[in-house]
Parts: sequence; structure tokens; C-alpha cells
Amino acid sequence: MGVTISRSILDGMKKASAVAWPREACGLLFGESGAINAFREVRNVAERPETHFELDPAALFAALRAQREGGPRVIGYWHSHPSGSAAPSITDATMAAPDGKLWVILGGDEVRCWRAGIAGLHDRFAPVQLMAI
Ligand SMILES: [Zn+2]
Repeated sequence: MGVTISRSILDGMKKASAVAWPREACGLLFGESGAINAFREVRNVAERPETHFELDPAALFAALRAQREGGPRVIGYWHSHPSGSAAPSITDATMAAPDGKLWVILGGDEVRCWRAGIAGLHDRFAPVQLMAI
């Protein structure tokens, strides 16, 4: 099953990725099953942000708390690969819990979407079709 995303969200993530280059940009995805309705950029607190990302835990906890209180649902994460590949790295596979969350990755001009599970690339990421609307 594919996932819809608006062009304005795609453009917003691309812009944030360009600004962050040569470091990885990262953030949260909000929406519902089958639809990414919003994104938020979150500070990358990784020690080596050129090759890794780590969401600012305070921002992540705040978003999850807001969700519990009826706010937008966190359905996944997005980050950029300054190297240019939109495929998850081994490091991404190590970091990802097999929890069904979406992983949107920007690399070069490509934006690809994956679902974290127990099969697929690196036995962790199944490709998901991203449908721009
Ligand atoms: Zn990555």
C-alpha cells in the first residue's frame, strides 16, 4: 500500500535538507495510515551529523506527549543523506525499531519511503510507494 504526501511537504523537507547540507537534516512525520499530512524539522543531535542523525529527544518526547493528548499522530521519521542515496544505510537499520513506522529518506533529487519491519533492505526496511498529491 502506498502513502500520499503533498508537494508542499516534499518541498519543505527538500529545502530543510539543502540548508542542513553537508549535515543530515531530520524530523518527524505526522498523519494517519496511508497519508503523511505534515512534517516537522527536529534538531539533529548526533555526534557526527555528516553521516548520522539523532532526533533531539526533547522534541520527540514533546511530540509523543502531544499525540497522547489528542494532537497529531507521529507516523514516522524523515532524514536526508548528504551522500546522495535515498536508501536506508546499515546505520539506519541498526537504529530503527521494527515498529511499522515510516522512514522517508531524501538523497540527491530522490525521496523514498520505507516501512520499518523485519523484512526488506537490511532485513528492516520494506519499500513503500510515495504518491505526491
Ligand atoms: Zn540514514
